[in-house]
Amino acid sequence: MTEATLPAPPTRLTLDLDALVANRRTIVERVGSRVEVAGVVKADAYGLGLAPVARALLADGCRSFFVAHVDEGIELRAVLDAARHPDTRIFVLNGLTPGNECLYPTHRLSPVLGSTAEIAEWSGFRAASGASVGAALHVDTGMNRHGLTLAEARAFAAEAGVVEAAGVTLVMSHLACADEPGHPLNAIQLARFREVRALFPHLSASLANSSGVFLGADHHFDLVRPGIAVYGGAVVSGEATPMRPVVRLEAAIVQIREAVAGETVGYGARQTLRRASRLALLSVGYADGFHRSASSSDGAGGAEGRLHGRAVPMVGRISMDLMVVDVTDVPEAARGDMVELIGAQVTVQDVAARMGTIDYEVLTSLGRRYERIHRGG
Ligand SMILES: *Cc1c(COP(=O)(O)O)cnc(C)c1O
Repeated sequence: MTEATLPAPPTRLTLDLDALVANRRTIVERVGSRVEVAGVVKADAYGLGLAPVARALLADGCRSFFVAHVDEGIELRAVLDAARHPDTRIFVLNGLTPGNECLYPTHRLSPVLGSTAEIAEWSGFRAASGASVGAALHVDTGMNRHGLTLAEARAFAAEAGVVEAAGVTLVMSHLACADEPGHPLNAIQLARFREVRALFPHLSASLANSSGVFLGADHHFDLVRPGIAVYGGAVVSGEATPMRPVVRLEAAIVQIREAVAGETVGYGARQTLRRASRLALLSVGYADGFHRSASSSDGAGGAEGRLHGRAVPMVGRISMDLMVVDVTDVPEAARGDMVELIGAQVTVQDVAARMGTIDYEVLTSLGRRYERIHRGG
């Protein structure tokens, strides 16, 4: 494939795997050598691409991975096998899917058991099939999402032989408010998880997601599960992230038009031009995951791109496949120039704030129509 024989793609998503690994290193250094740093690669590695991300993490020493669904686990196992790494564990966060038990030993996947029903099904399946693949146990400490209640965990711990029958090797819980360091639920969850760990002294223990890592060493236990921080996301809600940006989204200007003051732009005529303007058309829209909520109107500004180091604000509504930015203040702007929509100058957090959402949703919404370039790794 040579550049000369293909038309220049109008939009480009560049994923910097060196930055991704640098972000993982930051966490490895923070937790120290006695704590394992797992990789969380659910939802196609937060929209960045499961295979290239998994290979980069693997090369950096990652040996335990978390996915959400069993099909993601199957895909990941194939990637790890192709890289000749049988010494890896894959945990399926959403647990056991009824009727799919046999997929777990076949692909060496460990369910994260989060209810007494799942424990019973899994233990029964292991006894009947002789499968030796292990599992993790999720105990809820304050989210009321996945996981045994504390009372159920106490009962489970008190019953002889059941931990072994389920092949449980890891006990974990998940923090609800780790991105708000001052939130009182953090201390409550930590205290409850200490009790959980004391119930299962022979198992390794895991509490922290990305933000949890930064709450301090008492949250680290034996294994941490950072996702978003590795992908360049925020660690503390509303604060600049110490992580390096991993994703860069650029769109080429496909057309520049002059419009006169008093005219409106886009569907619904929601924005009226206050001055004679140069408007640049980009081939990105909400079908590409650039949410319509980042549109601009007379009442409220929208997202902003960067061109030649200057801000180019969105004008009017974002449509399915197109958006318009104002390049009046960038006189050298020309057809073909690349406008940064996410990257080092426009952070994922900025874009998320404009969309009224969080960086997780921006990344996992990234469209399938972009040309994807993986750098480094
Ligand atoms: C998604 C997830 C993580 C990773 O969370 P981040 O906030 O992205 O670091 C860790 N643990 C569980 C249970 C999760 O669902």
